[in-house]
Amino acid sequence: MQKKIVIIGAGPVGCYLAQLLKRQGLSPILIEEHAQVGRPVHCTGLVGSRLFEEIKHLTLPKDVMVNIINGAVIYYNNHSFTLKRKAVAYVVDRERFDKELSRDLNIYHEHRFVGLEREKNEYLVSTDRGEFYADIVIGADGANSVVRKLIRQDVGLKYGKGLQLRMRIKSRHNNLVEVFLMKGSFFWIVPEGKGIVRVGTISNNPHKDIYEFLSSAGIKGEVIDKFGGLVTTGVCKNTVQDNIVLVGGAACQLKPLSYGGVYLGLKAADILATCIRNNSLNKYDLLWKKEFLSEIKIGLKASDLYNRMDNKEINLVFNFLKKQKSFIEKSGDFEKHSSLLLQLIRNPAIYPQLGSLFKIFLKGILY
Ligand SMILES: Cc1cc2nc3c(=O)[nH]c(=O)nc-3n(C[C@H](O)[C@H](O)[C@H](O)COP(=O)(O)OP(=O)(O)OC[C@H]3O[C@@H](n4cnc5c(N)ncnc54)[C@H](O)[C@@H]3O)c2cc1C
Repeated sequence: MQKKIVIIGAGPVGCYLAQLLKRQGLSPILIEEHAQVGRPVHCTGLVGSRLFEEIKHLTLPKDVMVNIINGAVIYYNNHSFTLKRKAVAYVVDRERFDKELSRDLNIYHEHRFVGLEREKNEYLVSTDRGEFYADIVIGADGANSVVRKLIRQDVGLKYGKGLQLRMRIKSRHNNLVEVFLMKGSFFWIVPEGKGIVRVGTISNNPHKDIYEFLSSAGIKGEVIDKFGGLVTTGVCKNTVQDNIVLVGGAACQLKPLSYGGVYLGLKAADILATCIRNNSLNKYDLLWKKEFLSEIKIGLKASDLYNRMDNKEINLVFNFLKKQKSFIEKSGDFEKHSSLLLQLIRNPAIYPQLGSLFKIFLKGILY
């Protein structure tokens, strides 16, 4: 008999997973609380170009990509430097991205998942508008996952509030992302094209912070859209319990330094679909963690260290990175921040330049 699979959440990860399961001949059901896939938008839509090379079954119309990114300008105080990397990333229209992934799927819109009960060998999945039976329940319900809370995997996780403004601004970079380092946080400006940019941050009080940032940086423009969103960072001890599974934002599959989660979420969906095909669901937690847990853990350490730095320390890091510009341009990996850190550590030529930074790195490793 065919496995009954219910996926909670029709975000990019839930939809992509459902497409993979459909290819296996399965008929997954998606439960989505909103009336439409992709709305409201709560993501900047910056994805590394590798996403389109590595995610096997991601076929999207070209115009989902609204801009191409050739590097970044990093700012600290009144100083900056530019990292150039041709076509390192794309800016996608997240609403269309999600909608394309959701084509021809069986989605129950405006159904909010509220709970689960075990009934013999299956689960009774309850929503505010009806119930569904499932052999496997997949929590793809994002950063504030209810499924994750039900299976008690939210211990020790950290929540960050995000805010993004879409603004019409004259004379900013057309194909470079701008990153502004500040004590305890950072801000980004991602060019969407046609004079529109996406300005965002993640912090405890993003609304206050973003307007203070715009005013202090002297950035003026018309705000044409605004949205909030949540990110959850940390490590869930076990993302499979019986036949209940977490994937994507629900499983904290995102890069803690940049909060980018689309790439890791889709990669994990690939692994999960293979485990379902091979009847080896119990291996999923081990397999995805083997592939990118160390990346997440290094990112968590680095982001924790950054958040504890004072201005003097951020200045030291900024100047160090500026000096390593060519090395970063050559060796940086948009999806794997740890590989750059490891290459820097393994490069004895940089040791004399570390100076007082050595103490900061030591602090990061020890605490
Ligand atoms: C401000 C901000 C900017 C970001 N920018 C980027 C970026 O530039 N690049 C990048 O890669 N990542 C970015 N991210 C992270 C990215 O948005 C997530 O990693 C990604 O969306 C995870 O996809 P998902 O499908 O797992 O979850 P989501 O996209 O969150 O989708 C979850 C779905 O589940 C539904 N849902 C939730 N609860 C229930 C329920 N109880 N019942 C029914 N349905 C439910 C939601 O409505 C939603 O449709 C950003 C995040 C934020 C907050």
